[in-house]
Amino acid sequence: MRATKHQEFLAGLIRLHVLHHAVEGEFFGNWMIEELHEHGYKIGPGTLYPMLHALERKGYLKSRTEGAGRRARRYYRTTRKGREALKVAISKVRELFNELVKER
Ligand SMILES: [Zn+2]
Repeated sequence: MRATKHQEFLAGLIRLHVLHHAVEGEFFGNWMIEELHEHGYKIGPGTLYPMLHALERKGYLKSRTEGAGRRARRYYRTTRKGREALKVAISKVRELFNELVKER
């Protein structure tokens, strides 16, 4: 599956996936890229990092930097707002999923 295909619908799923892991604990960008690849999302740093920055700017994630210079690594985790958003999204996903599978 290519992330550029059907981007319109997949972007929201990727953001939810990111939020899910941010609730579970800290992660860094490259780890998330690998994780998404394992789930079949071909997302690169040019897409993921702007997404992480936007989620942080909107208050869903916060980050801290460890190390300096080229070895600096930025760790992300969720905020209270991010946890609330995930909770709301989970109930919506569950409801939608029930309706989607009912038709099959
Ligand atoms: Zn995952």
